[in-house]
Amino acid sequence: MVELKSNDQANKLGAIATFLDTPVTGIPHKSLNSSKGVIRSRDLRCCTEEEIVEEPRGATHARRIKVRRGEDKIQTDTIVLTCDSPKLPSRIRAGYLTLDVRPSVPLPMRCSKCQRYGHGNDRCKKPAVVCVRCGKGGHVERDCSADPHCVNCRGDHAASSKTCPKFLEEQAILCYKAENGGRFQQARKAVVVEIQKTISMRTFASAVKSQLRTKPAALPKDGDRSAPSAPP
Ligand SMILES: [Zn+2]
Ligand SMILES: [Zn+2]
Ligand SMILES: [Zn+2]
Repeated sequence: MVELKSNDQANKLGAIATFLDTPVTGIPHKSLNSSKGVIRSRDLRCCTEEEIVEEPRGATHARRIKVRRGEDKIQTDTIVLTCDSPKLPSRIRAGYLTLDVRPSVPLPMRCSKCQRYGHGNDRCKKPAVVCVRCGKGGHVERDCSADPHCVNCRGDHAASSKTCPKFLEEQAILCYKAENGGRFQQARKAVVVEIQKTISMRTFASAVKSQLRTKPAALPKDGDRSAPSAPP
């Protein structure tokens, strides 16, 4: 995979048919060249999804969020835009409107079979179902009365808990990726560094606090200063 800075570079590279005598073809990456954002506007209420894409420059696809009320599907003012750049623009022009674009963050994907994050049950390689409640194999949640035990963080909650540290970490990575673009693994690295920094700052802060809680060491007074020991 080659990361390029401009369309011009992409066009030049795309024109290359051989590389070191090996025939090559270049195809743009499916997801890394675009970003997803959310806009909200009452003024776009009458526009179709096609009309919305005609107007904002940089948007290639629009999907209006609809909610179900009984039999009806009600249109909301929220529209998910796909933009043609890896980094999401902070604002977008649609006709005479200038709209703020917020990153569209998907929910972390948890496998309903093994309960691990990062893949769906259709891609699961684990042979047996793992209970979402107790983390043990061989039964499902509705047959389970055991104490909750998270298979991802070993905490005393179900693997589906929204307060699970692993869920929160996955969510932070997806937020980072939505705001900064790039690959999931790059986002994971950045978030892990951030978490480590916070932990070491907390450790430092609690160390300072506990130092303050214990009796502060008395500074030596001038007269107390012990005489330098004589060299052996
Ligand atoms: Zn799985
Ligand atoms: Zn169980
Ligand atoms: Zn957990």
